[in-house]
Amino acid sequence: MSKTKYVTLLCPSCNREAKMEIVGTMDAEGHKAWYRCTRCHHSSMMGVIAAKKQDTVLKLTKDECISYSPEKSYTVGQSIYHTDWDDMGKVTAKEKTSNGGFAILVTFEKSGSRRLIENLQAEA
Ligand SMILES: [Zn+2]
Repeated sequence: MSKTKYVTLLCPSCNREAKMEIVGTMDAEGHKAWYRCTRCHHSSMMGVIAAKKQDTVLKLTKDECISYSPEKSYTVGQSIYHTDWDDMGKVTAKEKTSNGGFAILVTFEKSGSRRLIENLQAEA
């Protein structure tokens, strides 16, 4: 029923990038698995690198978020909380706006990718 899974990994036996067949997982969480190289047919136990689902599913709590305010400055990787939208997100990039201001790109849990003003200078 289930199809054989292949992943391209650097084989520790022949030291080349090769298609590796997943022949079995070692623990319940599937963090480690046996891979069989399709080139040299050696089996190697390796940690599962392919599991990168954290990129899309953000698990944030308000406690670890800094509330968003346009006057504040943020750094990439920071978790912020937008009070108006009741939404949490992570700063993924910083950029300069066309009028010389600063902006951050934030991936929000509910609202998705948004551009927000940061480091806003109050007009004197
Ligand atoms: Zn190999």
